[in-house]
Amino acid sequence: MSTAEQIRSEIPTAEDGERLSGLILELQTKGLRITTEFERRPGGAGPSDAGMIWVEGQPLTVPVDSDFVTDTPFSLEAEDVGFGIYRDGTRVASAAPADRPKYYSMNTADGTPYWQIALMHLDSLASTVLQTCAYWGNDDQCKFCGIGVSLDSGNTVKVKRPEHLAEVAVAAKELDGAVDVTLTTGSTYGKDRGALYVGKCGKAVKEASGLPVEVQFEPPEDFSVIDKVADMGIDSLGIHVETFDPEVLAHIAPPKARTGIERYFAAWEYAVKRFGEGQVTTYVIVGMGEDPELTIEGCKRAIDIGVYPFIVPLRPVPGSLMADVVPPPADYTERIARQVAPYLIERGITADKVAAGCARCQACSPLGAIEQSMKLSASGKKLIPVKSL
Ligand code: SF4
Repeated sequence: MSTAEQIRSEIPTAEDGERLSGLILELQTKGLRITTEFERRPGGAGPSDAGMIWVEGQPLTVPVDSDFVTDTPFSLEAEDVGFGIYRDGTRVASAAPADRPKYYSMNTADGTPYWQIALMHLDSLASTVLQTCAYWGNDDQCKFCGIGVSLDSGNTVKVKRPEHLAEVAVAAKELDGAVDVTLTTGSTYGKDRGALYVGKCGKAVKEASGLPVEVQFEPPEDFSVIDKVADMGIDSLGIHVETFDPEVLAHIAPPKARTGIERYFAAWEYAVKRFGEGQVTTYVIVGMGEDPELTIEGCKRAIDIGVYPFIVPLRPVPGSLMADVVPPPADYTERIARQVAPYLIERGITADKVAAGCARCQACSPLGAIEQSMKLSASGKKLIPVKSL
């Protein structure tokens, strides 16, 4: 049995939830110093520069390689049995680094290593099916993104084939306990922005493995593309605006700014009708200089139409245009997440109801742990607020 199958567990009490969500926030923003062998993902899109770790049953991707990590008070230490997370030498939590997945030693019939086709992110299988983007390397490149970094490193395949992804998904499920699949793509100049190809990959994966699948793409020119992707049997859909602050969007992601935030809302509204409430998600990256009030307002408006705003603190990707930026302070992210989480709970579209993808996994966000602790607190368990360790 894999680490993934053994470890994910509910937070037992509201007190544990408060303590753990505070720790998760700090780890996500300050990073973790590694003194032992560790499964990590350098470069790329999504949770790049990430160590993969379970902290008291909660999944976490954590910065381990960026320059700012040299200042972190947190370290991962091997213990007589298992591992611990230490803050300035004091043990603060138990930890279990992700195993190296067993399927990483396998190859396709044409000799492509499985790990170059899709990676395990704790208990989720993930792949960027088109590792190129129409905006990469020109003035339109999103400043936080690292999609071309992995490609240049030679660690991945430029175009993943549906049948290869399907083969890897079956192995990841059977050998390593993958519970869902997240497929993203760089944007294309095509009118569908790559949606039909990532959808086709998702369909092949789902048919072969039976795992729930999330696909991610930019708003297509014609929304009937969303219908076509839904008809392929895909479970969840990510259409990522990244920020609700139009000035920051214009600076950080010019093509997304040209699409316009209102167009994202229109695409989400359309998609919710096909995928259902809580199955359509958007990344909301905080710490890029945005107005926090606009951010909270945008998240609430998205929730109102059934969209899950997946709040993540900026994780500067080495090799990206924001490589030298530092993540926001933990209390900044916490303030935003704590105003959004109760709204999600009230609306009933919490992380535990998302079928597949980043919002299901929650390893890059503090939101899932905050939701859990707020639900426990509301259920009447005595809460002792502990915000820092
Ligand atoms: S659209 Fe932006 S974030 Fe997405 S792959 Fe292209 S450059 Fe990266």
